[in-house]
Amino acid sequence: MRANLLDFDIEGLAAFCAALGEKPFRATQLFRWIHQRGEADFSAMTDLAKSLRDKLAVAAHVAAPVVLSYHASVDGTIKWLFDVGGGDAVEAVFIPETDRGTLCISSQAGCAVGCRFCSTGHQGFSRNLSTGEIVAQLWFAEHFLREHLGRNTRVISNVVMMGMGEPLQNYAALVPALRVMLSDHGYGLSRRRVTVSTSGVVPMVDRLAADCPVALAVSLHAPSDALRNQLVPLNLKYPLADLLGACARYLAHAPRDFITFEYCMLDGVNDSVEHAQQLVGLLATYAGGASWCKLNLIPFNPFPASGLLCSPPQRVQAFAQVLMASGLTTTVRKTRGQDIDAACGQLAGDVMDRTRVQQRMANQRVVHVVRAPFAPAGAVL
Ligand code: SAH
Ligand code: SF4
Repeated sequence: MRANLLDFDIEGLAAFCAALGEKPFRATQLFRWIHQRGEADFSAMTDLAKSLRDKLAVAAHVAAPVVLSYHASVDGTIKWLFDVGGGDAVEAVFIPETDRGTLCISSQAGCAVGCRFCSTGHQGFSRNLSTGEIVAQLWFAEHFLREHLGRNTRVISNVVMMGMGEPLQNYAALVPALRVMLSDHGYGLSRRRVTVSTSGVVPMVDRLAADCPVALAVSLHAPSDALRNQLVPLNLKYPLADLLGACARYLAHAPRDFITFEYCMLDGVNDSVEHAQQLVGLLATYAGGASWCKLNLIPFNPFPASGLLCSPPQRVQAFAQVLMASGLTTTVRKTRGQDIDAACGQLAGDVMDRTRVQQRMANQRVVHVVRAPFAPAGAVL
C-alpha cells in the first residue's frame, strides 16, 4: 500500500525517505512542496531528482479526504465536510477576523466523552482520525483559501483543535499533526497560535506538556464536581482538583503562558451569580490565585436533542462581572457561523455511532431546567 505523506511529521518523512535510500534534506524539500506549496503531484516537484519522483510515484501519495460539502456564512465563516470513509464525515471551520484567520479542526469522527450540551457528543463515537486526516483539514483549507483569495502568503494564522472529538483521546495521531503545524518547513505556526482544547484527560495533559506544549484550553463548564459530573462525564474519572493540578503543572513547561478555561453558559444550569462565585473560589483554591487563567464564556449554541437553552445575555454579563471583579481575565466568545451550523458544539458531521453513546445518553437522567415565573432561572439537575 502507498504511504500517505500527510501522515508524517518531518522526522517521519525523513525516515520514509531514508528507507527509499534518500538523504534527510530531500525530506525537507518534499515537506515544503506538500505543506507550503500545497503540491500533491510529485512530477511537479521540479527540484527533486527524477529518480526520486519516480520512486515516490510508486511508494507514496498525498491524499486528503474528499470534500462532501462547503458552506459559507454571511459573516465569512466557511465550513467544510470531509468524507473520511465508512460512513463517517468530519467538519473543519475557517473563521476570518481582521487580525487573524483561525481554522477549527476535528480530531475524531464523533466523540466518546458525551457532554450533554455538545452535538458531537450526542452523535456518539466512531473512530480516531489519523494524523493525515487531521493534517489534511489544514492542508486543504490553507491552499483552498489561498487560491480563492488570490494570495500566495499564509491565510491561516491560528489553529484550534475545537472541532469534532476529544483531541487528547487521540494522542498518538495528534502530536505528529501538531508538529506539522509548528514546523518551519510546514505551516510555521508558533506554539501559542495552536490550541488544544480538552474536556480534561489528565494524564494526556501531562504528556502534552512534555511532548508538545502548545496553548491549552480546558473545557470547565461547572464550578463543582457535582455539576460537572453531569455535564462532562469524564469528570467522574478526572475530577476538578486533578484537572486543575494538571493545568498548573502544564504551565511549568509553557512559562509565561496562560490556560483558557471555557465555560459554556447554559440557561438555569450553570450560569447564576452563585456559580460564578463558586468558580472564583475554585480557581483561588486550585489555580494559584488564578493569575494564569483566562475565562472564556461561550454562549451555548442550542440544538434540539440537548433540551438545553442559552443563557440570556444579561445573565452572561452578570456572570462575567463577578469573575472580572475578582481579577480574572474574562471574555465572552462571539458566536460565528451560526447560520451554517458551524458554531461551537454545532459540528455534528456524520458519524456511525459504534459505542452506543446515543443510547446511553437517552438512558441518562435528563437535565431538568426549573424556572419560577418571575424569578431568575435556577436549575435542578
Ligand atoms: N473535545 C474538546 C474539543 C472540542 S469541543 C473539548 O471538549 O474541549 C470545543 C469547545 O466547544 C469546547 O469548549 C466545548 O465545550 C464547546 N461546546 C461544545 N458544545 C457546545 C455548544 N453546543 N455550544 C457552545 N459550546 C459548545
Ligand atoms: Fe467531546 Fe468536546 Fe463535545 Fe465533550 S464538548 S462531547 S469532549 S467534543
